[in-house]
Amino acid sequence: MSSATDTAIRASFFDFKSVADQPDALLSAARYLEDGVLRLRDGRVIGLAPWEECSAELAGQPVVDLRGKLIVPGFIDTHIHYPQTEMIGAFGEQLLEWLNHYTFPVEAQYYCPDHAARMSAFFLHQLLSNGTTSALVFGTVHPQSVEALFSAAEALNMRLIAGKVMMDRNAPDNLIETPEQSYQQTRALIERWHQRGRLSYALTPRFAPTSSPQLLAKVQQLRQEFPDTWLHTHLSENPQEVAWVKQLFPERAGYLDVYHHYQLTGRRSVFAHCVHLDDSEWQCLHDTDSTIAFCPTSNLFLGSGLFNLKRSWQQGVKVGIGTDVGAGTTFSMLQTLGEAYKVGQLQQYKLSAAEAFYHATLGGARALDLDHAIGNFNPGKEADFVVLDPAVSALQTLRIGNSKDIWEKLFVLMTLGDDRNIAQTWVNGRPVWQRDAGEQAA
Ligand SMILES: [Zn+2]
Repeated sequence: MSSATDTAIRASFFDFKSVADQPDALLSAARYLEDGVLRLRDGRVIGLAPWEECSAELAGQPVVDLRGKLIVPGFIDTHIHYPQTEMIGAFGEQLLEWLNHYTFPVEAQYYCPDHAARMSAFFLHQLLSNGTTSALVFGTVHPQSVEALFSAAEALNMRLIAGKVMMDRNAPDNLIETPEQSYQQTRALIERWHQRGRLSYALTPRFAPTSSPQLLAKVQQLRQEFPDTWLHTHLSENPQEVAWVKQLFPERAGYLDVYHHYQLTGRRSVFAHCVHLDDSEWQCLHDTDSTIAFCPTSNLFLGSGLFNLKRSWQQGVKVGIGTDVGAGTTFSMLQTLGEAYKVGQLQQYKLSAAEAFYHATLGGARALDLDHAIGNFNPGKEADFVVLDPAVSALQTLRIGNSKDIWEKLFVLMTLGDDRNIAQTWVNGRPVWQRDAGEQAA
């Protein structure tokens, strides 16, 4: 039965009906409807079906006609720094110098709530205009940075996970805190924002080098007090960083063991990069059901190295895709998937369009332990999705036009596509961004 408040959308649809533990399982999990109808009620999916099965039932009812467009679940960005939006594309450095020269001075500005509010609005607009409906986001050390971001995301009813940075050493004086301050401020933010509407909180120690053992013990205490929060940090991005962690924590077996020792691994733990892991670290990520955020444009831009996607499947470790703005060079998940393909090529790994779009949608949802809520068009899922215009330039029109099936079209989209291909972005059953309007419709 349909009701007066239902929305019905007619278009082409692509998603994955179920999660996969091996790339071979992706094709059978994939669903493509050339002419389908997506039905929504109260912000959730009622169902997705071929048009011919529903046309009689829908006769006389309004249908949003988006034929010619391809609708996929909203993209999920599993690692991004909102305060670094204003320093994207900073020249000439690798990780540790890049942090000192560019990142820390920019992040210092977020003590100002007005600046944080302005940049939160700008950041969320960038996400939505690129088809990204959920993200796991770093703030700065200032609680007001996260207050601003959560407030802006709440107004849009976005499913977002964020946290204030925790750090107490090896950073400028105006960006460090004591372990006790970090604990108190983080605790207050969790109590105010965690599981409020569609928002959730991630404990966010920046990375091991800016964390004393005392700070990590406070993160551990918070995780024990709030076991359903997320843990979001960096791991094994750059060789100099890995060597520095060994110097700072000589009593630990390696970089990941610093986090594991404080019980910061686990199902809702997301480690960005993981480019230089040793065998025992891969095994620990598997054994603890932890997650990796693969950030191809960032790893290339900072010269950090090549992430081994093939090994993540072999080891049974969940992976999501992160843009990692501002070390990453784009908010566009399409462009990020295209760069992920090239990272694979340099290691003789063929990243298929099926696998790429899986990581950006349902796989990303699973990586964030959110696949019960988002990631595909199964009944009951929250209605977050992207309306893609498959061909918005002469070159795209030519190349999409001679693509023989959906797989080739998706691969062309991730190779040639960008924000121009995002026609609309819907969050919780409502259009919140439309390319024609050029701004948020909400
Ligand atoms: Zn990062």
